[in-house]
Amino acid sequence: MLDEIIDLVYPVSCIACGRAGGRGLCGHCLAGLASRCALWVTQSGDDCGGPATCFSGYRAAGEYSGLIREMVLKLKSSAGYYAPPLARLMVASAGNDPGYISCDYVCYVPSTREKIAQRGYNPAKVLARRVARHLGRPIFDGLAKTRMTLEQDRLAGASRWENVAGAFGVTGERVPLGSVVLVDDVMTTGATADACARALLDSGADAVQVLVAARTVLNWCPAP
Ligand SMILES: [Zn+2]
Repeated sequence: MLDEIIDLVYPVSCIACGRAGGRGLCGHCLAGLASRCALWVTQSGDDCGGPATCFSGYRAAGEYSGLIREMVLKLKSSAGYYAPPLARLMVASAGNDPGYISCDYVCYVPSTREKIAQRGYNPAKVLARRVARHLGRPIFDGLAKTRMTLEQDRLAGASRWENVAGAFGVTGERVPLGSVVLVDDVMTTGATADACARALLDSGADAVQVLVAARTVLNWCPAP
């Protein structure tokens, strides 16, 4: 209902076909994109010779290119109305995988206070909320950053793993986490997702599956 009211007040055209009132991505274009999504790889971390990850697997709505890249960039620059179509594509990419549809919690990669102040929200959390609603699962809000890190996108592949290792932890009351779906907007090396997954597993999660809007790889790798 709220979405409909927002549409009337601030009509947003479809990013793909330009149809007015397309809410960022109209139903027709969403269906077309959903039929082509579901890029899925069992393990990551191999793109730059990184270590094997401790999450069980990941799924992405698509590669970080074209429309998905455009929507992610807009979502990250405070255009929150791209969260619903991206979340629907992400859930479509999860298919019938029980690791996703039967998870106990949906969690998200936490952001820093500075970043949240800049954007007004954490894009990963906005996506996670939508994903959780689609899956009918609760959100777990207890994952937090426990120390400062450098911006990952300014670092070479190997340094990204060192930068975020041990940088996340679970705060607050301990709950039996069971199987967790960890949501983020983009995954590159998988280092951040791995550090988050490790924190969740250390706090009693049985398994962590990663779900992202877009998957990309570094187009250059440091010398080993
Ligand atoms: Zn459209």
